[in-house]
Order: sequence, then C-alpha cells, then structure tokens
Amino acid sequence: MEKDGSVKRIIISKEGRKFYVKDLSQDYHTQFGFIRKEELSREDGSEVVSNIGEKMRIISPSFIDRYRKIRRAPQIIPLKDMAAIIAETGVNRDSLVVDAGTGSGALACFLANYAKKVVSYEVREDFFRVASENVKLLGLSNIELKNKNVYDGIDEKDVDLITFDLPEPWLAIKSAEQALKIGGFIVSYSPTIPQVMDFSAEMKKHSCFQHIKTIEIIERQWEVEERKVRPKSQEIGHSGFLSFYRRIC
Ligand code: SAH
Repeated sequence: MEKDGSVKRIIISKEGRKFYVKDLSQDYHTQFGFIRKEELSREDGSEVVSNIGEKMRIISPSFIDRYRKIRRAPQIIPLKDMAAIIAETGVNRDSLVVDAGTGSGALACFLANYAKKVVSYEVREDFFRVASENVKLLGLSNIELKNKNVYDGIDEKDVDLITFDLPEPWLAIKSAEQALKIGGFIVSYSPTIPQVMDFSAEMKKHSCFQHIKTIEIIERQWEVEERKVRPKSQEIGHSGFLSFYRRIC
C-alpha cells in the first residue's frame, strides 16, 4: 500500500505551503530541505524538522486533501460550483445521482462523498481510464463509471439528481426525463451562454421540467495579512453557468 499513488501525509510549512507525501518509504524533499522518512509517520500535529532546521507540521489527509490531488484530464468543475449543486439540490446519503460526462471524474467523486451512489457516463475511453484511477485513489466504492455515450440513453431509473457537464446537454434531455424521478433535479453546467440558451429552449419543450434558476457563482478571495486586508489581485476567472431544473410531473 506504500506506493498506490494516494496522499498519505501532508507537511505544512510555516507560510502555509502544503506538501503531499505519497510514499512513506523515502525521505521527502521540499524547498525547505528534506524530512527523514522516519518522521513521516509521526502523529498528527507533530512538528517535523527538515535537515536544514526548517520546522513544519505534519497531518493526515482528509477527503478534500486527497480530492485536490486527483489527476485532471479535461477541465474540472471548481469547488464553488459543486458546493452550489449540493446546496440547491440537497443531495444526501439517500440519493442516486447520474453524472455526464465524467471527464476527470471530479464532480462524480465529489458528489459520491455525499450521495448513496453516483453513476457517471463518459464517451472517451482515455478519460474513462483517468476517472477510474481517480476513483481508486480516493477509495470510493459508491461510484460506477460507464464508458458510454449519454446521448444514447441513461440506464438508471428513479434518479434523484442528474448533472450534465457536456458540450451539447440538450441532446441528453429525453434520456434524463425518463431516468429522473418526479421531484428530482437536473443541473446543467455550461461555460457559455449559447449553451445555456439552447439547453433552456429544449427544456421548455418538456412541460414537466420547471426551471428553478440559472446562476453564476463568483468567488472573491481576500488577502488577510495584518492591516493589508483586501481582495487578492489575481482572481479565478470565469468557470461556468449552472442551470437548475426540477421534474414536477
Ligand atoms: N465534470 C467533469 C468534467 C467534464 S468535461 C469533472 O468535474 O471532472 C466533459 C466531458 O464530457 C469530457 O470528458 C467529454 O469527453 C465528455 N462527453 C462529451 N460528450 C459526451 C457524451 N455524449 N456522453 C458522455 N460523455 C461525453
């Protein structure tokens, strides 16, 4: 289990820099010197000292730390947008979720940390493989990945939440309507407004879908350093728009 690629420990420098240790059988090198391998198994919160005398802290990773280190193949959905999906739909340990396309599996994995089960569809085999590795790294057992085109249909029934991060989400609406339970949600994430427009136009043809809202989440991070308390100069740019719908009949 020493070299399975998952994060085993996290070393945090005085300035808050984090180093993710994946292999406990070797000394760990940082720009502040190296930490001897014997130190890597110290208890959480311990102070570890590098060979050049730099003092750092060591902790064990939680889900979010391991999640941050997953492999990214296509662009993933940022945390701020995933949080909104969870908050607006109330997805929880009783929920069956269908997701497409899987991409790196970021959203699928994040949702699996809350839901009963997540089934995710990916048309490309290379991304399907990347996502499968990520699921393994995170040790999630409630995700099923399918190397399938979601436009050809969704196998699941009585689904509580369907999430789309697809170039042409409107092509998946018919399948989604059959899979979703009454009261269930569809959330479509799209980077551009023409996609939002085409999705909305197609959804309007299905009278059982109620449009709840379309939002863009803007996160502004602040620097907090003594009296220098101000928005950070470098902002995260645009990610995508989230459109929320509910099946009501
Ligand atoms: N939400 C993902 C990123 C998805 S990127 C994450 O958080 O990691 C969009 C993905 O949709 C790409 O991997 C693309 O290959 C896949 N895709 C595009 N069309 C598809 C289709 N018809 N069926 C299934 N997957 C599709």
